[in-house]
Amino acid sequence: MVSSDTIQKSDRSPVTIADYGSQALICKAIADAFPHDTVVAEENSQSLKQNTPLMERVTNYVTRFLSVEAQQKGNITSRDVCDWIDLGDGEIGDSFWTLDPIDGTKGFLRQDQYAIALAWIVEGEVQLGVLGCPNLPQQLDMSNSERGCLFVAVRGEGTSIYTLKGKRIREMCVSENASRLAESYESTHGDSTTHIKIAKKLGMQNPPIQIDSQAKYGIVARGDASLYIRLPNPAYPDYRECIWDHAAGHIVVEEAGGKVTDANGRPLNYLSGRRMQNNRGVVATNGSLHEQVLSVLSAM
Ligand code: AMP
Ligand code: MG
Repeated sequence: MVSSDTIQKSDRSPVTIADYGSQALICKAIADAFPHDTVVAEENSQSLKQNTPLMERVTNYVTRFLSVEAQQKGNITSRDVCDWIDLGDGEIGDSFWTLDPIDGTKGFLRQDQYAIALAWIVEGEVQLGVLGCPNLPQQLDMSNSERGCLFVAVRGEGTSIYTLKGKRIREMCVSENASRLAESYESTHGDSTTHIKIAKKLGMQNPPIQIDSQAKYGIVARGDASLYIRLPNPAYPDYRECIWDHAAGHIVVEEAGGKVTDANGRPLNYLSGRRMQNNRGVVATNGSLHEQVLSVLSAM
């Protein structure tokens, strides 16, 4: 699903068969279970409709991964697949799902880290978050570790980690001792120079964990890192974060005992649009470090 099957969106970011396929399957599953629910997802079928070979490949993949029951209902057409993708074109409101079908597409293309991120937001607060990280080692620093982690957080009920097959491994808790920073692998997606300065001021000696996608929230929740910072890249000072890039990770960290705000200490506002217009950057910590990080930031 990687190699040649990538197209560029108008903002020049890559999109693959997997982005479209994942969005079609997940939006269909939500519509089957909750027919009246709204989904706000990253992709739409516009560019796909203009690319017949890619459309055919996406349709083949989606058919392959649909349940036997769904397949028996009849032939799945490209039109069905586009309609399922476009179920993600919902409006932000009192209650909605937000989906990033492949978060960290650049990591996916490098065959590195990526996540499938789904959150349910009610009155502006994330109530449920699921992060599927198929390539994330279960033990971060062990080279032969089994890969594939599913992080599930429910408001008031904690965060648990599962295998991809759905076997619960354990409840997760942030760490007081993990003196380590997590940041994006992509240098243009943040301000690494400043992130590292902040980590040094906090006395963190370990090299940063640079990985793609919301897997970073997973590793803060799991206690592999105590801090994830994402400041706007100096080349794009007006960049505003997308809701589907943070909502699922946000609750995964909070329910594991951590804290998440923007770089100014403001709560992330999921109701201001598909991009968080009133927020700047993101800071996720183990909780106890949070105020210290914000005060180092405000002094810079
Ligand atoms: P990560 O792998 O943590 O860098 O997150 C991937 C996400 O970064 C993508 O889903 C994009 O929505 C987002 N992104 C793209 N360009 C930028 C940028 N200039 N600054 C911050 N995030 C970005
Ligand atoms: Mg994303």
